[in-house]
Amino acid sequence: MAKLSNMSIQGLGVFSSLPPPSDDGKDAVCYLCLEGGESEPLRRDCSCRGTDVGYAHLSCLTTFASSKNKEWDGRDTNDFQNPWRLCSNCLQTYQNELRIDIATEFVSFVRRQYPRDTQMQVEALYNKMMAFALMFDRLQPVQKKEAGVTANVLLLLITRIKNDAPPLQTRYYQFEANAYSLHGDIALDEGTVEVQRWQLLTSRSNCSCMKQLAMLKMPPTQGTI
Ligand SMILES: [Zn+2]
Ligand SMILES: [Zn+2]
Repeated sequence: MAKLSNMSIQGLGVFSSLPPPSDDGKDAVCYLCLEGGESEPLRRDCSCRGTDVGYAHLSCLTTFASSKNKEWDGRDTNDFQNPWRLCSNCLQTYQNELRIDIATEFVSFVRRQYPRDTQMQVEALYNKMMAFALMFDRLQPVQKKEAGVTANVLLLLITRIKNDAPPLQTRYYQFEANAYSLHGDIALDEGTVEVQRWQLLTSRSNCSCMKQLAMLKMPPTQGTI
């Protein structure tokens, strides 16, 4: 994936005398297993910079995070999730496709390790859903579909907690809101019937709040309401 930092530098033309960007990882090795990228591509999308810093195989990152989780003391869920969200080199969050891929591995891990722990699964699903949401405009159609499925499963599990083990943690309401918001974005993106209904509703409504909301949500090509 193109690095924003490279694009910025090239775009500015300020550093044109520098050698070509060297963070493509072709000479790097995985910092976890010390192997190259022949059998599995090396990944890096965090704040690590340099020719050989911070590259790793997704499978190695997954194994590392899994082993960290086995040391978890069961108290702070951040301690449980951080190995799946933060690069252990630069301690910054993974970005873009790598964030999505490792979040997907996290969901699989939690399903295997905690098949009966609904709350743990909600945490992992929310993490995955937000990985999609944060780069929504750059997602492929198949990824948007998976984002929608992830949001659906998340909503289902939150409803199950509401029914079976209330009260709901306050922040799960935020999870719900973000899941519905993502569904709204997907619907708007697809130009589905929901969009037309939304336009119809807001065009009939005298409520300025609804109209303002609609204008914020609608793509510019949809015209004014
Ligand atoms: Zn490796
Ligand atoms: Zn890093």
